[in-house]
Amino acid sequence: MSTVADTVVGAQTTFEPVIGLEVHVQLLTASKIFCSCSTRFGAPPNTNVCPVCLGMPGALPVLNGKAVEFATLAAIALNCRINERSIFARKNYFYPDLPKGYQISQYDKPLAEHGFIELASKKKIGITRVHLEEDAGKSLHEGFPDSEEKTAIDLNRTGVPLIEIVSEPDIATPDEAYEYLTRLKEIILYTGVSDCNMEEGSLRCDANISIRPRGQQELGTKTEIKNVNSFRFIREALIFEIARQIEVVASGGKITQETRLYNSHEGKTYSMRSKEQAHDYRYFPEPDLLPLVVDEKWKTEITETLPELPEARRGRLVKDYSITEYDAQVLTVSKALADQFEAAARAAKNPKRVANLVQGELMGRLKSKGVEIEQSPISMKGVAVSADLVESGAISGKMLKDLYDLCFERKRDFPDVYLEEGSPQQSSDTSALEKIIDEIIAANPKQVEQYRAGKKTVLGFFVGQVMKASKGQANPQLVNELLTTKLG
Ligand SMILES: [Zn+2]
Repeated sequence: MSTVADTVVGAQTTFEPVIGLEVHVQLLTASKIFCSCSTRFGAPPNTNVCPVCLGMPGALPVLNGKAVEFATLAAIALNCRINERSIFARKNYFYPDLPKGYQISQYDKPLAEHGFIELASKKKIGITRVHLEEDAGKSLHEGFPDSEEKTAIDLNRTGVPLIEIVSEPDIATPDEAYEYLTRLKEIILYTGVSDCNMEEGSLRCDANISIRPRGQQELGTKTEIKNVNSFRFIREALIFEIARQIEVVASGGKITQETRLYNSHEGKTYSMRSKEQAHDYRYFPEPDLLPLVVDEKWKTEITETLPELPEARRGRLVKDYSITEYDAQVLTVSKALADQFEAAARAAKNPKRVANLVQGELMGRLKSKGVEIEQSPISMKGVAVSADLVESGAISGKMLKDLYDLCFERKRDFPDVYLEEGSPQQSSDTSALEKIIDEIIAANPKQVEQYRAGKKTVLGFFVGQVMKASKGQANPQLVNELLTTKLG
């Protein structure tokens, strides 16, 4: 007898998921979008407020130019077309943390449209729109001293500028959703318009998901998963939700259009409420704000501040420094790190050597210790210093390896450890080396015989012995020369 689980597994191949993502990103402006209140996170509750963001009758919003610049910059980075003229609208709904009874957003005329994010597979995920809006306040349900069940409202967040980035339903798998979000975050971080801090709510993601028989054009009924606070959980929530929907449909049921919450402890989604439709909000144009105009001149000025974006930078790093795609990926996880790497590579006598050390010595140690590159004890500047020491012959490759190990042991940067170790130099003192070599030759007559009989590979044995005797401080090239002379 086949079980429901069998049906689901079988049905995985006959149904395909259709996923769209809505991402809210908080912009890093100093003040709110329609008033001059501070946007600082962590201030005492209800201290960053004024009549405008509290929604007092008669208070008028004044648009923050910086928020428009940031939103436009992000939209350009996401390959969007900027609408010269966009309109603010009131989205009406009641919620205790929304004092005005409506949120100022953009509806039928958003700031930007028709963008995309390209995945590693070269598949482009369309971006329907990027629009500006204000954030709502925060309801707090826990953490009261008497552990009573009550709700408190903090309106500090009310009126903080957000952009909403809405994707086309082009995403076909939970993995693609994960990659889309990772790339989106990376791009936004590069533009510097948000810190994308998910713990503080600077980046929030909702996912729309439906299934349909493979090959069918028409979309199935979708559910929305809200308030998931990590990309990994989004992926997990989607995996669960796809299986759930397939199970419902495969056993003859119907999907209800609804909002669902993901419980990461159980790995399940739960129905929260039936989903609102756009018409439930009764959007209408905001009468207190003029249409937003981003003209050609302003758009050009903003475009000029666009930094090189991660994808382009990866390509250039691979070309300029002959590093691998993988390393370029790691070195570009943040703009700051990529900047550091390039600064170090350029400051060093031999940029290629910096790249080699990062690839050959740093990455492996980070990986084996499970340390992220941002937490590396050896900074990019430290790598540059060490590269120069090897380049000038002051230290050998072996010494560098030992020093790197010490850096990881002590969790200290290279220049510090180098000083602590007394700035060791590899020995190029010929007479001292000759003494060591003579001793080693005398102690290994059998190997000397082999070498003289033509087995030249034995030279490696002698080099190793000399390096060991000199505690790794001999200059290997000099050792080679001296050994060859003496043995020959
Ligand atoms: Zn205010």
